Amino acid sequence: MAEPRVSVADLNACIARTIRPEVRALAAYEVAHSEGLIKLDAMENPYTWPREMVDEWCAVLADVVVNRYPDPEASRLKTRLRVAMGIPDSAGLLLGNGSDELIELLALAVAVPDAVVLAPAPTFVMYRHAACAAGMRYESVALGAEDFSLGRETFLEAVARWRPALVFLAYPNNPTGNLWDAAAIDAVIERTPGLVVVDEAYAPFAERSLIERLDRYPNLLVLRTLSKLGLAGLRLGMLAGRPEWLCEINKLRLPYNINTLSQVSAAFALDHAAVLNEQTARIRADREHLMARLQRMTGLRVWPSRANFLLVRLTARPAPAIFRYLREHGVLVKLLDGSDPLLGDCVRVTVGRPEENQRFVEVLEAALVAAPPGLTA
Ligand code: PMP
Repeated sequence: MAEPRVSVADLNACIARTIRPEVRALAAYEVAHSEGLIKLDAMENPYTWPREMVDEWCAVLADVVVNRYPDPEASRLKTRLRVAMGIPDSAGLLLGNGSDELIELLALAVAVPDAVVLAPAPTFVMYRHAACAAGMRYESVALGAEDFSLGRETFLEAVARWRPALVFLAYPNNPTGNLWDAAAIDAVIERTPGLVVVDEAYAPFAERSLIERLDRYPNLLVLRTLSKLGLAGLRLGMLAGRPEWLCEINKLRLPYNINTLSQVSAAFALDHAAVLNEQTARIRADREHLMARLQRMTGLRVWPSRANFLLVRLTARPAPAIFRYLREHGVLVKLLDGSDPLLGDCVRVTVGRPEENQRFVEVLEAALVAAPPGLTA
């Protein structure tokens, strides 16, 4: 029998009338090809675990039961997370397959026609993505061009204008690395008619948290992740806040979203928190070394960071050319030029191992000399 033939035009027309316009307008989250490169693009912890710890982990995994569904509440893991993250006793906890999933669930939960998600710009791209995917309106307020500060009055004006259902504030912010004035954040929480989510993905490097404010503000939720602590591959994020809110959002969570291997592995890792904390401390110290090295170089500007990455502006040569030179010489960073008006000629570099940071600096120095000027991506 002859295969039915569908023309590309017919297929595209069918897609156009079937897939929601907001979805068609989105771009899929792009992950750069990194094989064989020094990977400084995704804010991962560059360290693995000591051999004995890996052996112990494997022994634990050997007893894991995978013919049954996971514990739907991940109770054992939640108990450990509460202690590790200093979650107040009064707060509830909702787990996600990475904090990305929780960002998506939050948007889905508040999405009614014309509801607004508000966030500063630039910030973590998933906030916009999740809002648009849920069919919501996304509004943003530009940060200060010089220091990426959160302009209290401007932001409060936007809150008054848009009456947002959901505000995202990354603390510290990605990709700028700074912490905003806590008093300004308090004012935003107090004036927002809906939910304010303070995203503390980089808390281990910031040594600062607003989590104790959960007792003070009923419309505050705090988002955390284990990704930056060295468990990016497990995909585990958590949302802490009033159980009444979490009870609603939980209805949208797919059952068994945290698989058994992740539950057991994360609990195991938290039982060895000292190893993770030692790695985090090393990264914080190396961040300061890398910052000092970059500050001594000409042809760039680097901003102080409370996260595990640095924002760098190439002032002497176009960032796309430098980015390509770095990649061609084995170093992958994140090119931000073109993603926001405040990020012209910027790249973001994750703090890696000392030898990786050293290689990045060397190649960058060479790039500043060698990359052809005026070249664009
Ligand atoms: N929040 C912020 C501010 C981030 O930068 C990231 C990752 N880049 C995430 C959340 C998502 O983390 P994950 O999904 O790995 O938990």
